[in-house]
Amino acid sequence: MKEQVLARAAALGFDLCRVTDARGPEHADAFRRWLAEGMHGGMAYLERTAERRLNPDLVLPGAQSILLLAISYHRSGSGGAEASEEGAEARGVVARYARHRDYHHVLGPPLSALREFVNELGGVGTRSLEYIDTGPILERDLAHRAGVGFIGKHTNLISRELGNWFFLGSILTTLQLEPDAAAVHRCGTCTRCLAACPTGAITEPFRLDARRCISYLTIEHRGSIPVELRPAIGDRIFGCDDCLAVCPWNRFAREGRLMREAYLPGFDRPSLVELLGMDEATFRVAFRGTPFERAKRRGLLRNVAVALGNTGDGRVLEALERAAGDPEPLVAEHARWAIERIQARGGKSGRSE
Ligand code: SF4
Ligand code: SF4
Repeated sequence: MKEQVLARAAALGFDLCRVTDARGPEHADAFRRWLAEGMHGGMAYLERTAERRLNPDLVLPGAQSILLLAISYHRSGSGGAEASEEGAEARGVVARYARHRDYHHVLGPPLSALREFVNELGGVGTRSLEYIDTGPILERDLAHRAGVGFIGKHTNLISRELGNWFFLGSILTTLQLEPDAAAVHRCGTCTRCLAACPTGAITEPFRLDARRCISYLTIEHRGSIPVELRPAIGDRIFGCDDCLAVCPWNRFAREGRLMREAYLPGFDRPSLVELLGMDEATFRVAFRGTPFERAKRRGLLRNVAVALGNTGDGRVLEALERAAGDPEPLVAEHARWAIERIQARGGKSGRSE
């Protein structure tokens, strides 16, 4: 039966499919400690679902196996964040995964198809649940145990076949399938990701303080970005790839089929001034069905204001002055900060030039 499931997963376009049993993850104590120290920031749902995350049987009573699926979003020839040329229009950097339509939408249908296949294969009484990043399970730990990849010092999963650029999906099922062998840690003496992190969010190997992580601050975090971290955010307006991009295991990255057609041209380096000028209706149309909906207009424009402040470029002051009067207080506050930062660094007002 396992061979049939693997064949079906490959036919549906999943890049890797591995199986583990439905025991709780091995890192339960470390996860509880991480929560107790508040390192999850405002992600209160992690606390609320902690016990279920540590016990798959509470999520699906009678669960026997968990399928872990990897889906590459690597694009051949795609670079990271090329620096803007001097004097060029200010542009922001978007995390690579977010340069595609929302992966929940893209990957939902093939994942449902695989879940239905598993249920049919198991016959009457077989129950399964599917998740793409949203389920109350610790997918990364389970994917390590299933051999999809190993958890790197940056705390993300690394595949020897896909590098760092992939999503994880999972299917919990009451069907018993033979588990695969766990992955082996392969960071060795490398510490590139720790050195590359602009905010020191990887406080030690295998330990991430989400409260300092730009991915968290620009996407999950709902409120004001701590002032002391704003300069280090640079021109990143949605997520951060720095720790992933420096990892030497990316030499094995390869394109996958499922995300290829979901790529959004023009999302690599969007114009910051154009973004800052968007009203609610424009935002909704421009970003419908994309990961940006998660941050909402208020979150994205907050990030854009920070990035503009970090340019030090007086030509963007006019746009920031308009945003300082935005009806959304979060946007207005970050725009005021940006104006002060540019003026403190000697940038002149665009209107006076
Ligand atoms: S995503 Fe960016 S800020 Fe977060 S840990 Fe990685 S390098 Fe640091
Ligand atoms: S950059 Fe080096 S230390 Fe960091 S996850 Fe990759 S291999 Fe491990």
